[in-house]
Amino acid sequence: MGEAVRSVETRFVTGSRIGALMTVAIGLAALAGWAFDLPRLTSVLPGLVTMKANAAVCFVLLGTALLLVHAAPSASRREAALAKSAVLLIVAFVAAAAALTLAQDLFGLDLGVDQLLFREAAGGAHTTNPGRMSPGTAVAFIVSGASITMLLFDRAFAPYVAQTLASAVGAQALVVLSGYFFDVPALYRVGEFSAMSLNTALALLVLALAILAARAGGGWMREFSRDTISSRFARWLGLAALAAMLALTAFHVHGVHFGWFDRGISQAVHAIAGMVTTLILLWFFVRTANRTELRAAHLGRVRVILGAVNNMIVRARDFRALAEEACRIATGPGGYRLAAIGLLDRKSMRIVPVASAGEPRDLADTVARRLTLAIGAGTREPAAGTVLSATPIAIADIASAADMPMREELARAGLRACAMVPLVAGGEVRGVLTAYAAELPVFDDEEIELLREVASDLAFALDYIEKEQRLNYLALYDALTGLANRTLFLDRLAQHLAGTAQAHGRLALLLLDVSRFRLVNAAIGRGAADSVLREIGARLERAHEPTRLARIAGDQFAAIVPRLAGERDAVRVYEHLAERCFGSPFAAGGQALTLDVRAGIATFPEDGSDPETLYKSAENALLEAKRRGARYAFHNPASDAAAADRLLLESRLRTALANRELRLHYQARVNVRTRKITGAEALMRWQGQDGALVSPAQFIPVLEETRLIHEAGAWAIAQAAADALRLAQDGLHGIRLAVNVSQVQLRERDFAQAAARAAGTRPGPGALELEITESAAMEDVEQTLGTLRELSELGFALAIDDFGTGYSSLAWLAKFPVQSVKIDRTFVGAMLHEELVARVVRTITDLAHGLGMTVVAEGVETEEQAARLAEIGCDEMQGFLVSRPLPYEDFAAFVRRLGAGS
Ligand code: C2E
Ligand code: CA
Ligand code: CA
Repeated sequence: MGEAVRSVETRFVTGSRIGALMTVAIGLAALAGWAFDLPRLTSVLPGLVTMKANAAVCFVLLGTALLLVHAAPSASRREAALAKSAVLLIVAFVAAAAALTLAQDLFGLDLGVDQLLFREAAGGAHTTNPGRMSPGTAVAFIVSGASITMLLFDRAFAPYVAQTLASAVGAQALVVLSGYFFDVPALYRVGEFSAMSLNTALALLVLALAILAARAGGGWMREFSRDTISSRFARWLGLAALAAMLALTAFHVHGVHFGWFDRGISQAVHAIAGMVTTLILLWFFVRTANRTELRAAHLGRVRVILGAVNNMIVRARDFRALAEEACRIATGPGGYRLAAIGLLDRKSMRIVPVASAGEPRDLADTVARRLTLAIGAGTREPAAGTVLSATPIAIADIASAADMPMREELARAGLRACAMVPLVAGGEVRGVLTAYAAELPVFDDEEIELLREVASDLAFALDYIEKEQRLNYLALYDALTGLANRTLFLDRLAQHLAGTAQAHGRLALLLLDVSRFRLVNAAIGRGAADSVLREIGARLERAHEPTRLARIAGDQFAAIVPRLAGERDAVRVYEHLAERCFGSPFAAGGQALTLDVRAGIATFPEDGSDPETLYKSAENALLEAKRRGARYAFHNPASDAAAADRLLLESRLRTALANRELRLHYQARVNVRTRKITGAEALMRWQGQDGALVSPAQFIPVLEETRLIHEAGAWAIAQAAADALRLAQDGLHGIRLAVNVSQVQLRERDFAQAAARAAGTRPGPGALELEITESAAMEDVEQTLGTLRELSELGFALAIDDFGTGYSSLAWLAKFPVQSVKIDRTFVGAMLHEELVARVVRTITDLAHGLGMTVVAEGVETEEQAARLAEIGCDEMQGFLVSRPLPYEDFAAFVRRLGAGS
């Protein structure tokens, strides 16, 4: 853009120099005319008014002055100063000559200065005498001189003055010219005095234009020197109008002078020429405006693709689906006719088509399939260049690209241009995105840049998905046996429990322990022991549905027995597994090893209704079996210490609620850049009678299970409301307190009303924010939406807590009436070591900002993290770096010290 502006300005300056030269030339021509008696040069046409010799000298001088003005900026400082003085000298001289002429006219003097150069012919008429310039010309010289002087000043107002004066001169010249054109002598003659000649008017016009163009980057000429459609149009219109005026005047003066035609004809020509010129200019204007507008609309559509892809990658779990969606958007709202995405398979060094979309369908398929040809000896496929060089390739006109394969088919389908953009992740080409368009011109730098961004986001998503799949696998499966690990098993157990509970059925959990395996380990070595475990896993898999199996720890396995009719079923399954897996010996280190297995059995619903409890029961049963030396044992509730602990905790919590042993601590939330406190999160603490603080991570789950959370949660809202009021009364304003809401509370039907009741009217819900975890919000989106709307109407501010952990879609987030998004602290923790995580944080931030939400980072512990967050554009943060959660008094003191403000 800057470049373009400069180039328009440079063109103006060049024009200005040419104008100055022309002024000098016209002056010199007139002088020559007087010297050699050539009327053509003094008056254009014999018989017309002549340019006087002193006027001619003034033109030569002023043209030179303007040339000096242009020379000054590029000269050395001394030369520039010299040029400036010369300009001032010239202007002063011209002004003096003009003033003298005016004085002679006003006072009827004749000092003879007009005849210094050429003697006036005795008794000659004004028109043929070299003598005195007309008073109009004299005024024009004075004004032009002043205008040129203004060009020497470096102040912003100077070009305005210069241009205004110059346009006055230009206007005067136009008046004179039209006097000749319309045969109205009053327009070029002032009273008795000599008239301004046609060539003088022309020279004045040229000089005025040259001055106007000299500083086109400033003053009001700036509007004509911009690189916009309107400026360009105005320039052409102005030039065309002047050129038409001059051409028509010349046409008229000649025609009438030589008697070719009369005035009526030339005026008719004038009118028609004006209309034709206007229409032609209009056409150019419309064409330029249309191109620009279509271009802007098109780029807007590419931005739509970018936005949509950005939005998708956060929730994408499958690259193929993402690629297909991206192609669909590219050919739908994106405005391309065809789009295809292929991935590079490093093993076969081939591009594998992944997705395509567009019309005609079979051509889209062909284009996608041909991506396979992109690598190979002597291929002419444009995608090959993209893949090999990692740079985008654009073909602006398919029809004239002789080398383009399938040129005819593509052209016949109306495809005019295409682009191939590499998918680059971690500096490596991973694939290619191609897009075909029907209209020209497309795929300029700006568009390619946008497409490149789309491609880079896709590549990022690909990278992310792959890494996540790997991580998921490692996180959920046992690497040795390939069976589910404990985490995945408990998750599957939870699903089984839910299903069984719904069917009012029963279920058994078998915890299997390979007897004496530790001894085996010591006897045959780690490696051999591992192969035995692998073999156990394989045998188990053959004997039992694999999705109901897991390797829990070293030599412990687990199995789910669904649809249990009675305890006997569980025993039967145990016997079956023991027989199939441990009935025959294992080959280990050249020996045949006979092993046996013990089991602890727990049943649902008797021994526990959630996975953890049931698992705990099975563990206790296994211990019991070992103690008794039995092959298996069922869980005995009496020995369930965990349940006892739980019961104790529950009753202590009831007392705690009654005795008001719960406290709220406040953790400050600050603006990332200013570090001013904008709010605080209320975190529940339980101070038992022994004075020790119990962590909410321990007691919140118990509160939830016993539904005591309703009472405790309402208390927290009421307490935070009271503390908000206290803050205001203590003169600490602008601090919003945030209260956590449990999933159990959120699912309660009239939670919004209960929250409003708890908050009361002073200070009212407005001062409070409620934090809903992402996973709670996504559990039942419809219900959440209703509750959040209600809360919002009641005046609560809302935040999505632990964002990034719940795999929710940002499309849903857009529907929630929330003000802030709190990025989970696992992201903040990993951000500095994992570029991928940093990109996710950036994407979440950008998208949340797009939705007008504030982004809060949680668990910020180091300045390094804070700096990165600031760079990413995150708005607020909380964490140990700023402050630990503090009791109210300490928090209030902290605010006083740091200051509040958003
Ligand atoms: P949360 O909502 O994610 O709260 C943030 C937790 O991160 C708090 O743990 C806080 O002390 C801790 N934290 C803050 N800054 C840092 C930091 O820089 N580094 C590290 N490592 N941790 C930091 P806390 O207080 O133990 O609370 C744990 C969870 O208990 C909360 O997680 C929230 O889910 C729940 N909770 C706390 N108070 C309430 C409550 O009043 N109602 C409900 N329903 N849940 C609550
Ligand atoms: Ca929270
Ligand atoms: Ca949180």
